[in-house]
Amino acid sequence: MPDCIFCKIAAGEIPASVVYEDDEILAFEDIHPVAPVHILLIPRRHLPSLDEAGEDSGPLLGRVLLAAARIAREKGIASRGYRVLTNCNADGGQEVFHLHFHLLGGRRLRALG
Ligand code: 5GP
Ligand code: ZN
Repeated sequence: MPDCIFCKIAAGEIPASVVYEDDEILAFEDIHPVAPVHILLIPRRHLPSLDEAGEDSGPLLGRVLLAAARIAREKGIASRGYRVLTNCNADGGQEVFHLHFHLLGGRRLRALG
């Protein structure tokens, strides 16, 4: 998708601190971390948001979540705990319209609201 910053990161056109990648998924450090561990996981394929993910995306979404859990273990934050979330559309606070999941941890996170 032209003009999509995360498509450009996935294509290697914009640099990012990549922590994991495979054929379908890329994980990289958030440029403005809000926690000691703040990693974004994206499907390489452009999907604007969770709202636009169809049934066919189910296996991919499962793999993204499992990749987040694996990265959390590798980063040493799994036993203390962490959060995986996606912001969807305006009320959800989504700013980049390429589906992504935030992996947050390394400090006690506040309750959502
Ligand atoms: P959203 O509110 O859409 O869920 O969050 C988008 C996230 O992407 C933000 O946490 C923001 O810091 C991050 N972000 C935006 N642009 C870039 C970028 O060019 N590189 C990286 N690594 N992260 C970005
Ligand atoms: Zn994109």
